[in-house]
Amino acid sequence: MAAQEPSPPSSLEGNKPGFPKKILANNLEDKHLCNSCQKILRRPLQAQCGHRFCSFCFNKIVSCGPQKCSACIKEDLFEEPTSILKQGGAFPDNAARREVEALAAVCPNEGCIWTGTVKEFEASHEGNCDFMIILCPSCKELMRANEQERHNERECPERTLNCKYCKEPFLLKNIKAHDEICPKYPMICEGCAKKKIPREKYVDHIKFCSKFKAPCRFHVVGCDTSVEKEKIHDHERQCSYEHLNLLLHFIMGIKVSLESLQPQSLEVASQKLQELHQSLRDLELKMSQLGGCVAAPVQGACAPTLTTSFTPLPSAMGAALELQLQSEKTKVAELSRRCQELELKVSTFENIVCVLNREMERSCTTMEAYNRQHRLDQDKIEILNNKSSVSLKCLYPVIIS
Ligand SMILES: [Zn+2]
Ligand SMILES: [Zn+2]
Ligand SMILES: [Zn+2]
Ligand SMILES: [Zn+2]
Ligand SMILES: [Zn+2]
Ligand SMILES: [Zn+2]
Ligand SMILES: [Zn+2]
Repeated sequence: MAAQEPSPPSSLEGNKPGFPKKILANNLEDKHLCNSCQKILRRPLQAQCGHRFCSFCFNKIVSCGPQKCSACIKEDLFEEPTSILKQGGAFPDNAARREVEALAAVCPNEGCIWTGTVKEFEASHEGNCDFMIILCPSCKELMRANEQERHNERECPERTLNCKYCKEPFLLKNIKAHDEICPKYPMICEGCAKKKIPREKYVDHIKFCSKFKAPCRFHVVGCDTSVEKEKIHDHERQCSYEHLNLLLHFIMGIKVSLESLQPQSLEVASQKLQELHQSLRDLELKMSQLGGCVAAPVQGACAPTLTTSFTPLPSAMGAALELQLQSEKTKVAELSRRCQELELKVSTFENIVCVLNREMERSCTTMEAYNRQHRLDQDKIEILNNKSSVSLKCLYPVIIS
């Protein structure tokens, strides 16, 4: 029996089941059908029993070992061993292939007007038809092959785009968010109106752009001027008096709030603490006195440091006292927490005052330096004046006298 071999001339490995029945339009006959896939035979093989299969279908059937021919069973022709399909048990049926391949065919895809033979269909049209329905692997939408390019480029909601600026690929739905952080996104300088500054260079640009307006350094103490960088020195020189004034106000304000904060509130708090401690001690005393005459223990919800100093009480009065003790303890805890907060605030303010004092000292030194320079300049002017009047006198003694 001939082993299956590539069937010339149109023999590619048969790697597909049969052709769709639709391609034969009207001239479909049963003898052209594969006994496995029930479509039009592609590279037919004939088994020993005489039944025909696409070579793909036959190989699929026998890939798990010999099988009974289902067509033989169906037609009640089954007999061993002829009806057993097995590897190498079929030969290429070139007569049937030529017959099928010569049949007139049409394209089964809706809208396509292609016509030719089955052979031509397989050789040049199958898989190349513009009207073939395909699935977008990204968004799973169905479309015609000739719409795929447009879909991929412009319509697919899952398509990737390259960022216009940094050229990195991004999913369409992420590209807007990317614009916000793209290092190459073009920014405009508000100062010098320069355009297309890549975001990654923008910080450097405004650091050196002399037209970029930034808030005055003294805005922390209340100067609300914004100045172009090239004019910042002028502003600080012109407004040094105002800046000092603002600083002074600021420091005075802090001083006042510190004074109002520190002594009273802390004192009040510690006084209250002491009172509470006292009443706690009283309560403990009372409870231990009461507890002397009882034995039954009570599930105590008190802090362990206190439970040692008295015996729990079973009576209603005991419970009430315990409750009061609890609430007093909560108050004490709350008060000490607030004390800590206040201390923290005080130390923060102290730090601020230190910093501001230093700043003041620096400003004063600068002012002094200016004054000194001013005096020196005045002296020079005077000397020059004197000199010039002396020289004038020398030149025109008569006129002047
Ligand atoms: Zn088949
Ligand atoms: Zn058979
Ligand atoms: Zn077509
Ligand atoms: Zn898609
Ligand atoms: Zn980008
Ligand atoms: Zn600029
Ligand atoms: Zn200012």
